[in-house]
Amino acid sequence: MKTSSNANQVMNDLMEKMDIRMTYQRKIILSILIDNIDKHLTANEIYSLIKVKNDVIGMATIYRTIDILLDKGIVIKHDFGDSAAKYELEIEKNKNHHHLICKKCGKVIEVSGLLKEDFYEKILREKGFQCTEYRLKIFGYCDKCRS
Ligand SMILES: [Zn+2]
Ligand SMILES: [Zn+2]
Repeated sequence: MKTSSNANQVMNDLMEKMDIRMTYQRKIILSILIDNIDKHLTANEIYSLIKVKNDVIGMATIYRTIDILLDKGIVIKHDFGDSAAKYELEIEKNKNHHHLICKKCGKVIEVSGLLKEDFYEKILREKGFQCTEYRLKIFGYCDKCRS
């Protein structure tokens, strides 16, 4: 299976970081996640995208692989309030973005932006909490569903 050179670079970085054996299945699942870095995929969608590339990986293997990647902190699991959990790569350039989630159509829009200074200054210090990253989930209605 072919991946773009950028995807290969990301994959190499991940392989270095990860202390797991890079099996064929893991590679394919990772490359799907890398190619869809701006999306949030369910296990079923990952399955379908693999199929599009003329490969078949069973759902059990997909779930098992995702569990390992979750465990390694390479993937994070989202609950956007709809039925299926969604997964996305947790790599440096993808960190600290927020999600606007439409309660009607389920659309997820990514936005980035730093929290205001006083969040760190006041709230975190008050709680004695060291923040390494953050993600906000903002629920509401998208442009199309608003009316
Ligand atoms: Zn909507
Ligand atoms: Zn996201």
